Amino acid sequence: MPATCSSRPPAQPVSGWRYWRFAADAGRLISVSQRGFSWEPGAVLRARCVGGGHPAPDPGCSCGIHASADLASLREHALCLAPGVLVVGEVALWGRVVLDDHGYRGQLALPRRLWLVGGDQGGDLRTLEALRGYGVPVATMADADALGSASAATRAFLAMSGPGG
Ligand SMILES: [Zn+2]
Repeated sequence: MPATCSSRPPAQPVSGWRYWRFAADAGRLISVSQRGFSWEPGAVLRARCVGGGHPAPDPGCSCGIHASADLASLREHALCLAPGVLVVGEVALWGRVVLDDHGYRGQLALPRRLWLVGGDQGGDLRTLEALRGYGVPVATMADADALGSASAATRAFLAMSGPGG
């Protein structure tokens, strides 16, 4: 049986951008998609197709680890409706990578850089410390830089109407 050759990204992985929720109590990045996949610190995330019965990503399906080509494309095309702590970051994608309309769907992924979105509230230091568990550079990014206007407006509304603020 061959050793898994996928435990670390190749020298030139595909670079993509995406959003996550951050579950501070669990110290985990969670995908903002309906599936809510958990990204374990330091572990390579492997795509799977739930219910598709084929290796992910498949060109004819929507499975795989989604990422936009760059931050501008992410802001424009990825509507982020998740309330709570939001993180934006750059990921390495490798293995099988499918070109999508505005980015990529990959088979294997690891975060490369992470930014806590809206880094000016109290409690950020603790969140930043937790994000460092991923072993990559961590910084903060203002809402206006990380989010398109529709996402920012939605999050502002959710923050005002959400339980307990
Ligand atoms: Zn699929």
